[in-house]
Amino acid sequence: MYQPVTISSTAEKVVYLVIFHLSFVMFVWSYGKTIFTSPASPSNEFCLSKADKEQYEKEERPESQQEILRRAAKDLPIYTTTASRAIRYCDRCQLIKPDRCHHCSACDICVLKMDHHCPWVNNCVGFSNYKFFLLFLMYSLLYCLFVAATVLQYFIKFWTLCRRKAAENCPKNELPDTHAKFHVLFLFFVAAMFFISILSLFSYHCWLVGKNRSTIETFRAPTFRNGPDKNGFSLGCSKNLREVFGDEKKYWLLPIFTSLGDGCNFPTRLVIMDPEQLTVSSQNEPAKSSGANQPFPTRPLSESKNRLLASDSQWVESGPEDENVKSGTKKHIIVSLES
Ligand SMILES: [Zn+2]
Ligand SMILES: [Zn+2]
Repeated sequence: MYQPVTISSTAEKVVYLVIFHLSFVMFVWSYGKTIFTSPASPSNEFCLSKADKEQYEKEERPESQQEILRRAAKDLPIYTTTASRAIRYCDRCQLIKPDRCHHCSACDICVLKMDHHCPWVNNCVGFSNYKFFLLFLMYSLLYCLFVAATVLQYFIKFWTLCRRKAAENCPKNELPDTHAKFHVLFLFFVAAMFFISILSLFSYHCWLVGKNRSTIETFRAPTFRNGPDKNGFSLGCSKNLREVFGDEKKYWLLPIFTSLGDGCNFPTRLVIMDPEQLTVSSQNEPAKSSGANQPFPTRPLSESKNRLLASDSQWVESGPEDENVKSGTKKHIIVSLES
């Protein structure tokens, strides 16, 4: 029977076995957690009361429906609206959507801080499992890298030495021309292919974490009081990282839930700038208006929340975003906050 080429050094064997099993166990653990953690849905406080629900269903005019929703949302920690300045309401789940929450048509529920529905894990990736998802990508990357790197030398040996053997008829070359080389070839290519495709996804999500942005928010910026702002939830790179991974570094690499917050209420950076400044920034780089390092005065969340929601007229009467941005008369800057 053919004896495949094996590693002769014991130290090398031990190192290989330890790294292999460590990355494999961490990969399976975080993959399992991503799959089996059910997506978090909004709590009951976001559901309409029975009376409101009945009234909402009876109403046919959208303005009156919005009136009901605005009344119900008054005490909720909500800072974003639809692009047309309406309260975000899910007809299917019959609830007011918290910020960053979206309805997943595959799961048929509203998912807190929904990122995307992932067919690879047959689950929604959102607030409850985003950290697990990132770790899953990281460990599968490590795993593929390890497999590809350790197979590489045999891959090269089989394909170069065998060919040389055939050409030169070298009797010292003991690498046999068997099916094993196809196994090595297959293993190397599969590991390398997965490594490359996961690397691009992982890099993209690292960038998203740094910006405190979900995949959905990248395609459709959340609309704050002063207009859509892709960076509305960004608190600076380091804080953004902690939002997902938590404050305690010792848990960062373990698939244990340590994300900050409750998934309904997010620290946000709400900026209302001078009209002149806004005109400039809205033409060039709207996102920059809330750059992480700008020294805006800060206010507590509760205060800025009141400013947002106290006057109902601001939600409805403002026109399309562009108009609203340019006609902005407030010179105040509201920035919040630490969780
Ligand atoms: Zn829903
Ligand atoms: Zn889903």
